[in-house]
Amino acid sequence: MSNHVQTGSLGYPRIGEQREWKKALESFWAGKTDEKTLTDTMEELRLEQLRRQQAKGLEFVPVNDFTYYDHILDTAVMFGIVPARYGHEGGAVSLATYFAMARGSSNAVASEMTKWFNTNYHYIVPEIGDSQPYLAENKPLAAYRSAKERAGIEGRPVIVGLYTFLKLSKGFASSAFAEKVEQFLPVYGQVLQELKQEGVQWVQIDEPALVQDTTPEQLALVERIYAELRRQVPGLRILVQTYFEAVEHFERVAALPVDAIGLDFVHDRGQHLEALERHGWPQDKLLAAGIIDGRNVWRSDLDAKLELAGRLSAYVPAGQLILQPSSSLLHVPVTVDREDKLGPEIKNALAFADQKLDELALLARAIREGQDAVASELAASREALESFRLLPERNRTDVAERLAGIDQVGDTRNLPFAERFEVQQQKWQLPLLPTTTIGSFPQTKEVRQARQQWRKGSLDDAAYEAFVNKEIESCIRLQEEIGIDVLVHGEFERTDMVEFFGEKLAGFFFTANGWVQSYGSRCVKPPVIYADVAFVDPMTVKESAYAQSLSSRPVKGMLTGPVTILNWSFVRDDMSREQVTNQIALALRHEVEALESAGIEMIQVDEPAVREGLPLKGRDHEAYLNWAVRSFRIATSTVRDTTQIHTHMCYCEFHDMIESIRDMDADVISIETSRSHGELISHFELQGYDHGIGLGVYDIHSPRVPGVGEMTDMIDRALHALDARLFWINPDCGLKTRGWSETEQSLRNMVEAALAARERL
Ligand code: GLN
Ligand code: ZN
Repeated sequence: MSNHVQTGSLGYPRIGEQREWKKALESFWAGKTDEKTLTDTMEELRLEQLRRQQAKGLEFVPVNDFTYYDHILDTAVMFGIVPARYGHEGGAVSLATYFAMARGSSNAVASEMTKWFNTNYHYIVPEIGDSQPYLAENKPLAAYRSAKERAGIEGRPVIVGLYTFLKLSKGFASSAFAEKVEQFLPVYGQVLQELKQEGVQWVQIDEPALVQDTTPEQLALVERIYAELRRQVPGLRILVQTYFEAVEHFERVAALPVDAIGLDFVHDRGQHLEALERHGWPQDKLLAAGIIDGRNVWRSDLDAKLELAGRLSAYVPAGQLILQPSSSLLHVPVTVDREDKLGPEIKNALAFADQKLDELALLARAIREGQDAVASELAASREALESFRLLPERNRTDVAERLAGIDQVGDTRNLPFAERFEVQQQKWQLPLLPTTTIGSFPQTKEVRQARQQWRKGSLDDAAYEAFVNKEIESCIRLQEEIGIDVLVHGEFERTDMVEFFGEKLAGFFFTANGWVQSYGSRCVKPPVIYADVAFVDPMTVKESAYAQSLSSRPVKGMLTGPVTILNWSFVRDDMSREQVTNQIALALRHEVEALESAGIEMIQVDEPAVREGLPLKGRDHEAYLNWAVRSFRIATSTVRDTTQIHTHMCYCEFHDMIESIRDMDADVISIETSRSHGELISHFELQGYDHGIGLGVYDIHSPRVPGVGEMTDMIDRALHALDARLFWINPDCGLKTRGWSETEQSLRNMVEAALAARERL
C-alpha cells in the first residue's frame, strides 16, 4: 500500500461540548445578552472547535461549516436571497434579519424548515423567487481569514454546491432550473475568486444531491457548473464532496473538471468499490474517501478500515488518497469523554466526533508508519470491539429465535377492514364524526419538575404515581366536560415519546451528553439501541388502565411505533435496520396485547417518523416502505376484531405515501393536515382512502386559538374528499407544548365545529 495518505474532516458539530452554542443563542434571543457578547462567544467556540480538529493532526480542517443557525440559510444570505417580507434592502444581511428568516419576527413568518436528506437535521429552505443573487457577504472568506489569523489554521472552506443549493430551494419552477444556474454562476464564481486571491488552497464544495435520482439533463447542468467554475477560477483546487449514499452516474461524477471527488464508502452498499473496479479512477484526481461512519456513534473496526484503504489505494495513484469521515460530523455528538455512567464495555465501543477523528489519525499513522508502529492502539481497539460484541444482551437466543421465524409471523388482522368496521361500529356506538386528540396534553412546569424530582430520588415512586394519576384524572374530566368522544390519558409520565419506551424496553442505553443539533438551537439526545430489543414488563398499562377506570367513554392506549423508535435512535450497526425494527415490533406486539387484556380496546400506535427513514433514491423507496409497513402490522395485528387500532403521523408530506398508509391497515389514522393548506385533502380526493381517518383540523404549533368557522371549513373540505362515516375530528398533533388555556379553548371550538358539521350531514 502506498504510504502517502492524507486525512480530512468535512464538518464538525457546532453545538459545543456543553451545548455552549445553544446557550449563547438562546440567551441572546431572550434579550439577556447583547450582540457583541453573542458574536464573541460564537467566535471563541468556532476557534476552539478548529483547534480541536487541528490537534488531531488532520491535513484538511473545514472552515465555514460553523454557523449561527444553519449553513443553508447562511448560503442564501451570502447570495442576498432574502424574501421581501423581511424588508431587506440590499447589502449585507443584518443579524436581526438573519434570525427573523430562521425564527420569524413580529411582522414576518419564519421560512420553511425541512429535513436535510435522510438525517434528523433540518435546514431553512431558501425562497429564491425572482430575486437576483449578489454577493452580500463572502462568509467562507471571513471564516478562512479568521481561522488563519487567529488560530494559525490553513482551513479548507466548505460551501454547499450550486446544484444542491438550488435543488433544496423553492420559489421557482423546475423548468427554470437551468436559468437559475446561469444567474447564480457568476456570483458563485466571485466567491471562489475571492477565496483564491486570499491564498486559499482547497475548497470543499458539497453536492450531496448527486446521490439522489439525477436525470441526464441535471447531470449535464452539474457538468456545466463545474466547467464554468473551472474556467472562472483556474488554479483554485476544488473538492466536490458527496455523502449519505452512492453517487448516481459514478463515471461522469468522477470525470467532473475538478481536482478531487469525495465519496461515501460507508453508506454506499459497496457500490463505489464496484464502480472503481469497473471504471478505475481518473489518474489526475484525488479521491477523498469517507471510510469512518459520520452518522453512527460506534467505534470502527479499524482492521476492516485498513483493508478498505488498501483496496482503495490500488486504484488511486500514490499520494492521491484522502481519508475522511463519510459525512460531516454534525450528525454525531461531540465527545465520549463525559459518558462516565456507562459500563466500560459500552463506553469503549463508542466513538463520537472527536473519537472518529482520532480513528482517522490512527489509520493514517498505520498506513504511513506501518501497522507495527501502532500495534498496541490497534489491539486496544480490537479488544474494545470484541468485549462489546460478546455482551450477552447483544446475543439473546430468545430474540434471535423469534427473529429467525419473523417471516412466519402473522401480520394480518382476522377480518378485512370493511368487516371490522361494521363490528366496531356496533361495539363502540360513536357519533358520526367522532372527536379525539392525538395523545399528549400540556406538559407544565409542575409536570416536568415532578418528574425531575422523582428521577433524582427526592420524590418516591408512590408520590410520583399519585401526582401523575392526579394529572390524568383532571385531564379525563376536562375532556369529558368539553365533550370529546374518545379520550386520552395525556402522557404526563413521558418526557419524550421514544425515550419513554427506550427506558422500558431491553436493548437501549442513554448517554449523559450525547446531544446533536436537530434544528437551530434545538438539540436532541437520541436513545442508543445497542443490544437486542425485547419486551420486559408492561410499559403503559398502568396509566391507561387507570385513565379508563375513570370514564365510561373509551380511552385510547398510546404507544410509539417501531419505525419511529428506530428512526429517532442511534442504532447498532451489526444488523440491518429492518431486523432491529422487527425486534421492536415484536416487543410492541406484546404491549398491545397487554393493553387489550387490561381492557384498553382502542390503541394508538404513533408513526410520525416513517418518512424520515425513506432512502434517498426513489428506486429504494418501495423496499423500505414494505418492511416499515410490515413492522407496524406485526405490532398491531393480533388484536380482536372489535379492538380499534389507531395510528398518527405528522411532520411531513404524505401525498406519495397514501398507498403505504392504507397498507398499514390501522382502523383509524389521524394525520397532520392544516399546514399543508388543503393540499393533502386533494391528494386523498384523487387517490381515495377507505379506512378511518382524521385530518387534523388545526395547527397545534402556535398558541393561537382557531375559530370554529375555520375548523368547519376544514371539515367541509375534507368531507368533499372522504366518506363521512370514516371521518374523525382531531387536532394536527399532540398538545404537549401548548398551554392549558389555549388548549381548552381550542378543543371547545373543535367540538363545537364537529357538532355543527354533524348537524349538516
Ligand atoms: N402521541 C404523541 C403526542 O401526542 C404523538 C407525538 C407526535 O406525533 N410527534 O404527543
Ligand atoms: Zn404528531
